[in-house]
Amino acid sequence: MALQVVSPRIRGFIATNAHPDGCALNVRRQIEVARGLRGSTQRYRNVLVIGSSTGYGLASLLSAAFGLDANVLGVCFERESTEDRTGSAGWYNLAEAHRVAREESRLVRTINGDAFSHAVKQQAVDALRAEFGPLDLVVYSLAAPRRQDADSDTVWSSVLKPIGAPYTGKTIDLRNDAVVETTIEPATDDEIEATVKVMGGEDWAAWLHTLADAGLLAPGCRTVAYSYIGPEVTYPIYRSGTIGRAKEHLEASATALTAMLKDRCQGAAWVSINKAVVTQASAAIPAVALYMSIAFKLMKERGTHEGTIEQIVRLLREHLNLDVPLVDEEGRIRIDDWEMQPDLQAEIAAIWDTITTDTLTEVSDYAGYKRDFEQLFGFSVPGIDYAAPTEVHRLIQ
Ligand code: NAD
Repeated sequence: MALQVVSPRIRGFIATNAHPDGCALNVRRQIEVARGLRGSTQRYRNVLVIGSSTGYGLASLLSAAFGLDANVLGVCFERESTEDRTGSAGWYNLAEAHRVAREESRLVRTINGDAFSHAVKQQAVDALRAEFGPLDLVVYSLAAPRRQDADSDTVWSSVLKPIGAPYTGKTIDLRNDAVVETTIEPATDDEIEATVKVMGGEDWAAWLHTLADAGLLAPGCRTVAYSYIGPEVTYPIYRSGTIGRAKEHLEASATALTAMLKDRCQGAAWVSINKAVVTQASAAIPAVALYMSIAFKLMKERGTHEGTIEQIVRLLREHLNLDVPLVDEEGRIRIDDWEMQPDLQAEIAAIWDTITTDTLTEVSDYAGYKRDFEQLFGFSVPGIDYAAPTEVHRLIQ
């Protein structure tokens, strides 16, 4: 037992603690949205989610378990509480997801460890054999800052940098709520290669090959990985930058994986292009926080704003429920369609050109962005008494 009053320790886009009750309430809210999926498809009985503790992966786990009544194995990299530190948000999210699943007699299991390693892949194989059986769906939702090579001491670190030329443009300094101009020097060839190693499709393919070799892909098994394109204003830092290069690799991997899966189990692989949402991964990308603040205000006004859970529910209800999911001319599922509407993008671009620190709160939903960010860690969640001590040692069981 360790009862503590937990106050936010957040600086810029880094938070070093989390509130267990706020995280738990966030999860229960997502579960309620996920339940709206019930009855929409019988296709997925056993599901593996890689990157299951926060963001799009957590929404995928909750949708599969509580919306589709599937058995779900999740893989994540989270931190349990210690004597002097709270657990990470993802840890508390899964503690609550497991608690509700147990209460409802659902099968949800978690492996907490490095998804890039052979050992964790083997643990997943063992857990699937022991309790699940072959998989109908594999969701790849990893967002990692680095990858240790499974076969050597090499460590690759991903960078968020432009390619070819420096990027100079607007961004928000989250520490003092100011719109500032930033310049980021272009990546070296080694940095580009390292980012592709971490965020490209190599490890996604390694997971599917391991599962296929272990006989753990059910006939017709599907896999989906998440990607992003976004608007032209963020191209230099996102789509045409190092992370975009990794996403191109991920998207190309879907083609090779479909060929492999077709051969092994009549299965298929897709990349889903998702909407920009506030997550731990996206908060770190320069310019993206400012873009999201503007976009969210306009999308809320139009009634088209979605968070991670609404996006994944739509992915399952309108795309992955079909015999042949709807795709664009490059074979990608598009649930960023509402974000990318041309008239919306034109409005965002006009605001982007003129926004300053003085107009930030008036022409954008920066307040909403900040609240979303704090809520990722269980803070600023309505209904939580932050003055009350709470148990910080929670178990994922
Ligand atoms: P996130 O930071 O919320 O989640 C990342 C997940 O990966 C967590 O569960 C974390 O525990 C896990 N993880 C990280 N390193 C790991 C490791 N070594 N081993 C095991 N697990 C590990 O990120 P997110 O924004 O939900 O991103 C998920 C995917 O969605 C990414 O591919 C991202 O590019 C994509 N995406 C995100 C957005 C967005 O706006 N956030 C938009 C479109 C697509």
